[in-house]
Amino acid sequence: MRHIQQFSCLSLSLLTLAACQQRSDTSEPARRTVFFDKAGMDTTISPGNDFFSYANGGWVRKTKIPGDQTGWGSFYQLYDENQLKTKSILEEVAKADAKAGTVEQQVGDFYASGMDTATINKLGYEPIKAELARIAALTTYKDVLNYMAASKSNRGGAFFGFYIGADDRQSSINRINFGQSGLSLPEKEYYTKTDEPTRKIRTAFVAYVAKLFALTGVDTASARTKAEAILAFETALARSHKAPADLRDPVANYNKLAVADLTRQMPNLNWRAFLNTMELSRIDTVLVAQPGYYQALDSMLPKTPVSLLKDRLVFDLIDNNASLLSREFEQARFDFNNKTLYGQPQMPDRWKRIANRVDDALGEALGQLWVKKYFTAEAKERMLSLVNNLQVVYRERIQKLDWMAPETKEVALDKLDKFVKKIGYPDKWKDYSDVAVKRDDYFGNVQRAREHYYREEFAKINQPVDRAEWGMTPPTVNAYANPTNNEIVFPAGILQFPFFDKDADDAINYGGIGMVIGHEMTHLFDDQGRQYDASGNLRDWWTKQDAERFETKTQAVVNQYNAYTVLDNLHLNGRLTLGENLADLGGITLAYQAFKLTKQGQSNDKIDGFTPDQRFFLGFAQVWRVKIRDEAERVGIATDPHSPAKFRVNGPLTNFAPFYTAFGVKPGQKLYKPEVQQARVW
Ligand SMILES: [Zn+2]
Repeated sequence: MRHIQQFSCLSLSLLTLAACQQRSDTSEPARRTVFFDKAGMDTTISPGNDFFSYANGGWVRKTKIPGDQTGWGSFYQLYDENQLKTKSILEEVAKADAKAGTVEQQVGDFYASGMDTATINKLGYEPIKAELARIAALTTYKDVLNYMAASKSNRGGAFFGFYIGADDRQSSINRINFGQSGLSLPEKEYYTKTDEPTRKIRTAFVAYVAKLFALTGVDTASARTKAEAILAFETALARSHKAPADLRDPVANYNKLAVADLTRQMPNLNWRAFLNTMELSRIDTVLVAQPGYYQALDSMLPKTPVSLLKDRLVFDLIDNNASLLSREFEQARFDFNNKTLYGQPQMPDRWKRIANRVDDALGEALGQLWVKKYFTAEAKERMLSLVNNLQVVYRERIQKLDWMAPETKEVALDKLDKFVKKIGYPDKWKDYSDVAVKRDDYFGNVQRAREHYYREEFAKINQPVDRAEWGMTPPTVNAYANPTNNEIVFPAGILQFPFFDKDADDAINYGGIGMVIGHEMTHLFDDQGRQYDASGNLRDWWTKQDAERFETKTQAVVNQYNAYTVLDNLHLNGRLTLGENLADLGGITLAYQAFKLTKQGQSNDKIDGFTPDQRFFLGFAQVWRVKIRDEAERVGIATDPHSPAKFRVNGPLTNFAPFYTAFGVKPGQKLYKPEVQQARVW
């Protein structure tokens, strides 16, 4: 089973892959006095032609991406610093002889078990042998379905993907929601594209699958045959998938279906029996985001040799657990998933990998220790006041919109007034006391944490939504907007330099975290978010004319980003990135207007030779500075709803008159557009 995440976040790609540069000490940073890296600029470039490179060109030229990274830049550096903070906590609690069952004992022993490579390597693939035997014993496709339904704690069976979350049209209640699944490559086109990089990825995928089989004792020739059959099967399945841009339609994704009807429509999948095996016999309706995928699965399953279905389960089982097994399994997985797909040459140090795993498994246990040490009430208060300032600005802007009717504005303002602000960490921590953590059982620890997670998730089905819950852990360098909760969320991890520093001037903080706040607020009104009301329900509250005007305005943004290219003419997908691009444009607009209300925003006092406005834009551009490997960029263009960093800076500024004024942008320069052509939505 695969869990599918559904929020609009600030930055996607590095979350799963970033790890960090070598550093030896973990001492507290000194109080910062410099907030802008002037030496990182390239003043030979005209700001009106390419502001990203003007602000960051010097840094880009001299920066080498560390070998264990997919890229390097502000997000990566902060992530790196947060990981070092996490490490100091982990090493401390792993040493301490904490009382059994305490948060310190669980976190410390989990970390120690992951660092115990002697035990892990000795075990080889022993931890999954019982599961492999279970798969080997299956004889019909119905057995295969039963196995998948029974292994909901993520041990295998990736033909069904689901999450448990708010019902989009009744957001106070949780439902189980099934979505398209079953593919190992990033999205459907990877199975059919004929360009050289994609063909190489398919070849490497077959080699990787074969390698995993070989590592569990299958002879080389059979391993290869199995791998090729798995690719062929997934290629057929991929035809039923929707492309990433087509998934951005919450109405099309909303299909509430009676289990009895589903069972009739897809008799081979037998949803009733499947849900019963999942211990969900009490459920009589489910949400199915992409029924077309399940229709295809229903027709393919009985026609596919059972041996192939079993091989696919075996591959899934090993692949899902490879990084918990001995070195050769972990290396094989890294070589395909990280090196081939994302161009990352070296595996990060083990402590970094295990620190991520602790965050993943016991996130709010580690998070408690983290915020106690690294997050202050002062930062939370300052952040809340920034959010409030931007909310006031957004209110004024909506009131003044010339394209929206008063009745639509009224609902928009109600939604704006009611959005929930979550800052730093949750008010109530999750309880992991039912997870037994043993110092010498890494695999078992991960497995028990997964079981805990699924117990917790399954208990939510058809129950009221806990609106206080968080979808990210405190050390995370990211933020998100969740339209079904009408909320924006900022983990402690991002509330630090270069996004935010309590000693920095307002230009830096508004250009950094101010823009991030505006970005998340705008998500609640982007192409997807605007379709939800103040209570978080998917409900059309727009007049027909306002909706049409919104569409026309946003089509201009789609066209703008469609025209951008990277890596020898690879075009951005303006539809896939629309929500993020709108959030970036809204973010800079709201942050700038809020900045202009501050004392510095109204003054003309230069710092480092720059006016307050110039410094605001430079601070903004520096937050987004990043250098990324070509392979990672390619995956990003195909799947990531966020535009590449250069266009997250240049794209919104092209549409922003105060930027023109601050840097004297003139007709003929690349970022210049006549005022009537500048996209303005919110
Ligand atoms: Zn976003």
